[in-house]
Amino acid sequence: MTRLPVKDRFDLPDGIIYLDGNSLGPLPCSVPARVASAVTKEWGGHLIKGWNVDGWMAQPVTVADRIARIIGAPPKSTVLGDTLSIKVHQALSAALQMRADRKVILSDNGNFPTDLYMAQGLIRQLDVGHELRTPNPEDVADAITSDVAVVMLTQVDYRTGRMHDMADITARAHAAGAVMIWDLAHSAGAVPLDIAGSNAEFAVGCTYKYLNGGPGAPAFIYVRPDLADHISPALSGWLGHDAPFAFEPDYRPAIGIERFRVGTPSVIQIAALDEALAIWDDVDLKALRGASIQLSELFISEVEARCPELTLASPRNPEHRGSQVSFSYKHGYAVMQALIAQGVIGDYRHPDMMRFGFTPLFLDSDDIRQAVDILQEIIADRSWDDPKFTTVKRVT
Ligand SMILES: *Cc1c(COP(=O)(O)O)cnc(C)c1O
Repeated sequence: MTRLPVKDRFDLPDGIIYLDGNSLGPLPCSVPARVASAVTKEWGGHLIKGWNVDGWMAQPVTVADRIARIIGAPPKSTVLGDTLSIKVHQALSAALQMRADRKVILSDNGNFPTDLYMAQGLIRQLDVGHELRTPNPEDVADAITSDVAVVMLTQVDYRTGRMHDMADITARAHAAGAVMIWDLAHSAGAVPLDIAGSNAEFAVGCTYKYLNGGPGAPAFIYVRPDLADHISPALSGWLGHDAPFAFEPDYRPAIGIERFRVGTPSVIQIAALDEALAIWDDVDLKALRGASIQLSELFISEVEARCPELTLASPRNPEHRGSQVSFSYKHGYAVMQALIAQGVIGDYRHPDMMRFGFTPLFLDSDDIRQAVDILQEIIADRSWDDPKFTTVKRVT
């Protein structure tokens, strides 16, 4: 198969097959020098002048423009900051404001828990009788009724990779008079996206998964450009003020996407992220998707042929999957620990799911075949059946 021309831009340890780029992307080779320069030259050398001379204050928007391209959004429509949980809160509070006459938030029971927790917290705080509905993912489209204020979905399911049809669901939400929020945590950098074309009002996502920004990298929020100036942000921090350095006593929101900033940006993390995002200048997202499908199809057929004990938990049709595949197996946790001990890194999600991410930026078909060789061996010789693999750790 064709290999994407960027594998050598990642610094992966020898002997590791990394099938977890969907959870924490690996280190790009050029990031350490960039971070060192941000620390030593910018912070150390320029001190507080760095906010201007090194562009620290502008970066939440300028660096987010690199993400805008990846998600199919126009420049200056996306901003970085905080964590994804906070961006979910911002988008949801804004969306509820736009439909104050309706009281239903529609999500699904496959959504990542923090998205649902943030909705539950906001409902308690607003205390005006909102209701969170979470049908099964496959029933969401039919649950978009005319009482729904907001449809808030994660496009690609974190457990199985099942992917919602963004264009179709957004059109249904709008036909019912609802606002649409997409969480792109497992989509940005994994599948081609056309967020502007979908006409969705909001999109949010994180940058440490397929975008390789590193642990703790800031999240992003996209707001449809015609709306930004009409929203009164609930998290009205000083850097979302129209004139932060006027230090006025009363909040006045900035023009456009800048009003979705809250406080001081994480400058060192943004330096790492900016450097990691430079790789995407050389990536064609359609080619990436083609390669991702080839890898996941190869993995599924090899596992099913050689490890019949495992059951595919992801959609079989690659058009209905993101860039990850899960297999369920009763001893999945221990098998995954045994795999990791042999250098094949995936992860595990309760109750029985072994999850494998396919990131064609740095994986090829040889990696996939080798990973399945090792998996087959572990299952055949039951080497997973050992207390050092069966004891559950804090982070799975
Ligand atoms: C990874 C992920 C998160 C993580 O939220 P943080 O606030 O960045 O920890 C949230 N939502 C979804 C859908 C995710 O996949």
